Amino acid sequence: MAAETTRAAAEALDRADPLARERDRFVVADDDLIYLDGNSLGRLPVRAAAAVERMVHDGWGRDLIGGWVRWLTYPEEVGDRLGAAFLGAAPGQVVVGDSTTVNLYKLASAALDARPDRRALVVPAGEFPTDRYVLEGLAAPRGLDVRLVPAGADVVDALDADVAVLCLSMVDYRSGAVVDVAAITAAARHVGATVVWDLSHAVGAVPIELDRWGVELATGCSYKFLNGGPGAPAWLYVRSDVQHLRSPIWGWFGQREQFAMGPAYDPEPGIRRWLAGTPTVIALAAVDAAVADLAEIGIEALRAKGTALTTYAIDLADARLAGHGVTVATPRLPHRRGAHVALAHPAARELSRRLIDEHGVVPDFREPDLLRLGLAPAYTRFTDVWDGIDALAVLLAGGAAAP
Ligand SMILES: *Cc1c(COP(=O)(O)O)cnc(C)c1O
Repeated sequence: MAAETTRAAAEALDRADPLARERDRFVVADDDLIYLDGNSLGRLPVRAAAAVERMVHDGWGRDLIGGWVRWLTYPEEVGDRLGAAFLGAAPGQVVVGDSTTVNLYKLASAALDARPDRRALVVPAGEFPTDRYVLEGLAAPRGLDVRLVPAGADVVDALDADVAVLCLSMVDYRSGAVVDVAAITAAARHVGATVVWDLSHAVGAVPIELDRWGVELATGCSYKFLNGGPGAPAWLYVRSDVQHLRSPIWGWFGQREQFAMGPAYDPEPGIRRWLAGTPTVIALAAVDAAVADLAEIGIEALRAKGTALTTYAIDLADARLAGHGVTVATPRLPHRRGAHVALAHPAARELSRRLIDEHGVVPDFREPDLLRLGLAPAYTRFTDVWDGIDALAVLLAGGAAAP
């Protein structure tokens, strides 16, 4: 592929793409916009728009309070469907609700409380900020240590018998690098530590087998590759045999006999105890529809297309951008990366702004020097990749790139 850098070659790849027609599942309001940010906010599925409208008019508008007969169990129903399609989770272990940040807090706090004898938490120094802040916020009032694992070091080396919790992403939000979830989970278990997995940049992009990999606790966003919409409720996985752990938020949606309005908190035995308050029903309808839509394509096909797109982007970057000082910051082994590619350049911030303003190409910028190209496999075309990298080459050739 590397030798063939013409746009005609990209067009040929689109013609041969078995997922080419899947783009029609999505609302494309501006066909000239080259959208390479599906890892931050996925496109709107046509089916999700319809589901939200139905929920608003029929659910809220017509059924009013009567709708709650159905909605009380909606978070776990959507959770089961998401678990089956994208998480490798048997029923009864996933609920959809709250944000990833809140879920990280619930899971990490519960895991910490289960190990009162241990003094340390571990998180990569380069982990997504909210994950680090949540751990710091848990550690500070308890007087615990947060061990920040420096870039390039192995998180497993930071584990020992004093560690209660390790928090880690499967797909790094910056580089796109993928770690071996099963191996790290096993290494943590070996020293008696619990991993809270953040799968925000993985779910919907790479195959996930939580049950098979021995994962106990995990959470992630629904608005990235899952296309659940801005602020979509996140999901949370608690393996069935550790559901006796306690969420730090003793909310009435986790209560047994919720409507008995009893005097004392007595949580449900199962996954429902991880709910806190009233679910966001309209937003759940969007997640439900988006997940059902994406599940029809299937994670294997999505992964194959994602790998083809990232490989193509890396080949083009090597051929057309390396001479302008751009380096590929994403692993070159296909199974070692997710569905986004990071390009490093000292002027990445300015390049990102000019791509949007002058070329109608939407990547995103991450401090200090990364341009991320999110190549959501369900709707990104090879020509989108070509057009985005071509625009970047034009900007760099024009000397736009003084840092
Ligand atoms: C996007 C993302 C988040 C965002 O958390 P919110 O609570 O939805 O704001 C958290 N962690 C990772 C790894 C992410 O990529």
